[in-house]
Amino acid sequence: MTNLRWLDLRQKAQSLGRPLECPLCSFRFSFRHLQRAGRACPHCKVPLGYPYWYRLLLAAVGLCTAGYVMYAGCKGGGPDANGWLLVGLPFAFVAGIAAQVFVLRVFPPKLAPHAEGSAWLKLT
Ligand SMILES: [Zn+2]
Repeated sequence: MTNLRWLDLRQKAQSLGRPLECPLCSFRFSFRHLQRAGRACPHCKVPLGYPYWYRLLLAAVGLCTAGYVMYAGCKGGGPDANGWLLVGLPFAFVAGIAAQVFVLRVFPPKLAPHAEGSAWLKLT
């Protein structure tokens, strides 16, 4: 009983650690493996990328988060609201990136072969 639960937990941890899956050979790997293999499947070496809609989603999430940080800063800043427009930009940028990393972790992308060919949105 405890053994089974342990196995289940281990399997869960493994799928958490390797959220990506090759669409061709079903090999599971992590973001680190993908980077090390030069944005290709570490197993069958097929070039892989995030699908178009996923990059669009990442861009939207990043922009929304950055926009919200700017909005919240301006609203809460009172008389310093104009100062926040200048000082807040780097924070908004970092918050946008953090939100994108969060999305990558929580909703891992389904990789597609050659997805980054003619796309205008190169976020990664
Ligand atoms: Zn593969």
